[in-house]
Amino acid sequence: MTKILLANEQAIRLGIFLGVFALMALWEILSPRRVLTQSKAVRWYSNLGIVAVNTVLARMVFPMAPIAVALLAQERGWGVLNLYQAPEWCAVLGAVVVLDFAIYLQHVMVHAVPMLWRLHRMHHADLDFDVTTGARFHPIEIILSLAIKMAVIVLIGAPVVAVLIFEVVLNATAMFNHSNVNLPLGLDRVLRWLVVTPDMHRVHHSVVPYETNSNFGFNLPWWDRLFGTYRDQPEKGHDGMTIGIDLFRDAGELHLHKMLVQPLIGGAGEYPINRRDWDQK
Ligand SMILES: [Zn+2]
Ligand SMILES: [Zn+2]
Repeated sequence: MTKILLANEQAIRLGIFLGVFALMALWEILSPRRVLTQSKAVRWYSNLGIVAVNTVLARMVFPMAPIAVALLAQERGWGVLNLYQAPEWCAVLGAVVVLDFAIYLQHVMVHAVPMLWRLHRMHHADLDFDVTTGARFHPIEIILSLAIKMAVIVLIGAPVVAVLIFEVVLNATAMFNHSNVNLPLGLDRVLRWLVVTPDMHRVHHSVVPYETNSNFGFNLPWWDRLFGTYRDQPEKGHDGMTIGIDLFRDAGELHLHKMLVQPLIGGAGEYPINRRDWDQK
């Protein structure tokens, strides 16, 4: 089973990525939540272009995929779950939940630390919010995030199946919760107890700092509720809210070559913790 998964890992991931992407892209066209304000051609070229850059770079920096790291940890007996013989379903479920919690904590960290916010803010600089926004991350953030993920895999001794499930599910939910789809409000209410919905994550893409610094979850919605970072809706509503960050409001910033240098442009701004002028706000 593990051998089959390892041999077909890339095909499985690519197949599910393309399938979910096509589904969400079509759904957005048929039933959009908001009217998009920017050229879709420019945004899609840039957001998908950065996916290509990130894929090649990740392969170069880490020849070993996270799933192969999990196999190595299993063979060497590294990590908590490889030391104790837990039932397999229990180890898989536990590892998926712990990996999701780690991603939540990482997301809070990249918002809190000014230097890391410079990297992560490129994700927030998109002036519209659709399925491609979910894949838009700066290459250096991708490398950092892979290193953290691999460290967590080794520490907990995550089973190979758990890593594959986590990667596939996280990829699919990131596309779902960034998509511009119009979900019935009643369905959104129920669904956001199980998974982060587009309405829930859109609050995180608001230009208003206290809204940006909420709803950090990418996959499981519980961490935000548990740790007090949950915000139900944007103050101005989903149609009235502004998407993006203060620093990059110009449509020219949506081009790929501009996105890559955004971490170096301007100051860290008022989004990271302890960077606000408390006397005035
Ligand atoms: Zn963020
Ligand atoms: Zn996002």
